[in-house]
Amino acid sequence: MQHPKTVVIIGAGIVGLSCAFFARRAGYHVRVIDPEVESRRASFGNAGVIAVCETLPLATPALLRQLPSLLLSQSSPLQVRWRYLPALAPWLVRFARSSAREPFDRSTNALRTILQTAVSAHIELATACRATDLLAETGWIKAYQSIDAYQRQSNELAVLADMGVSMQALTRSDIDALAPGFKQVFAKATLFTDCLQIKNPGEYLARIALACTAQGVEFVHDTCNGFEFSNDRITAARTTTRALEGDVFVIAGGAWSKNLAKAVGEAVPLDTERGYHIMLDTGPRDLLHAPLLWHEKSVVLSQLDSGLRMTSSVEFAGLNAPPRYRNIDRTLTTIRRIAPELAQLPVQSRWLGFRPSMPDSVPVIGTSTRHANCFLAFGHGHLGLTLGPQTGRLITQAIQGKQPDINLAPFSPSRFASRKFKVAITA
Ligand SMILES: Cc1cc2nc3c(=O)[nH]c(=O)nc-3n(C[C@H](O)[C@H](O)[C@H](O)COP(=O)(O)OP(=O)(O)OC[C@H]3O[C@@H](n4cnc5c(N)ncnc54)[C@H](O)[C@@H]3O)c2cc1C
Repeated sequence: MQHPKTVVIIGAGIVGLSCAFFARRAGYHVRVIDPEVESRRASFGNAGVIAVCETLPLATPALLRQLPSLLLSQSSPLQVRWRYLPALAPWLVRFARSSAREPFDRSTNALRTILQTAVSAHIELATACRATDLLAETGWIKAYQSIDAYQRQSNELAVLADMGVSMQALTRSDIDALAPGFKQVFAKATLFTDCLQIKNPGEYLARIALACTAQGVEFVHDTCNGFEFSNDRITAARTTTRALEGDVFVIAGGAWSKNLAKAVGEAVPLDTERGYHIMLDTGPRDLLHAPLLWHEKSVVLSQLDSGLRMTSSVEFAGLNAPPRYRNIDRTLTTIRRIAPELAQLPVQSRWLGFRPSMPDSVPVIGTSTRHANCFLAFGHGHLGLTLGPQTGRLITQAIQGKQPDINLAPFSPSRFASRKFKVAITA
């Protein structure tokens, strides 16, 4: 096979930038297209957890049983805008189907395999991009106000322990030491010891982009709105101003990848789980020595170098509905009553981001089933920061025609192929 020379990557979030970095290092000429609207990237505003313990997909029979009440409750961590429900329905159906034993086990195996090398990919990338100072070996805490709630998770913890996930049960005083801003709030907690924290996800991206530029990656500040083809190959990515030619194309547009994939003939059930954050100004104080999931409130708290970040769980409303901050504001009011240290901290900023989510919780990574010179790298859901560098490494191996570090079959877009989808592609 002829050695491809130019790789055109669409999207400069953690996934696209990681693809750019590893492809450039493998010797390709690399062009990255992105309008570079800093604030809209999920990779910018996330909680900063390299959550390698999260080997279980989201769709479980237990969650499905709770789904109707979660969707109907005003104060639920899962919000849906009812106008968006018809568009979301097919995704929800696939989500429900994914909780059955066989697909659940398949997703678990896929996640377990890819998560095993996620930390090493971060270390490789961060070392080359002079960003290791932003990686902290904190672990990741899941904390419970009530012992009952903790005990209800015991089955899940046992499953994770069987898979070899490292964890440590924390006593009340351990928790107080790790979370000095939340003294006496939690009765029990588990520390997942192999997880890391990125102390400033926005700066992490900036350092990777800087290293890419220094290595000669070309950034094109524009939006890709389609492709040009010759026979069964893609020849160029069209932007608003020009056509960018290349030998290989990588779609890494995060939650916006569905239409890009459709343009190359791939119908993938990608939707977005929107998530919010609030930044609180902590001044020089460190209220949390490790990122923490507050189980009862379904929020993640993460002490970053710029303040305390509180991220919310999930809102289904598509890519275009305006932000609605009232739920996360309400949660902040509630937790300020329980954790008085937070009461006086000024709010610095609020943010809405778009998780690119597949119904089976497994990202799409690999070659397009339609065009051999097109690669897909999106759909990382809650784990995109964790898996971005490893995805870049795997995509580069696939572009090189090398045997990838892991079997990519479970990540293929073809896992969604069905008669219905084939009709949609040809329609
Ligand atoms: C509140 C919240 C908390 C999170 N916490 C964590 C966490 O702690 N740990 C973790 O692992 N993950 C976390 N995530 C998930 C993680 O942030 C995402 O999965 C990840 O950032 C997705 O990266 P990406 O590169 O695929 O997409 P993005 O970062 O969204 O980047 C996609 C890029 O593609 C560009 N683009 C889109 N369309 C086009 C086009 N047509 N032409 C050119 N460019 C285009 C966009 O401008 C954007 O820059 C969180 C997400 C949210 C919302």
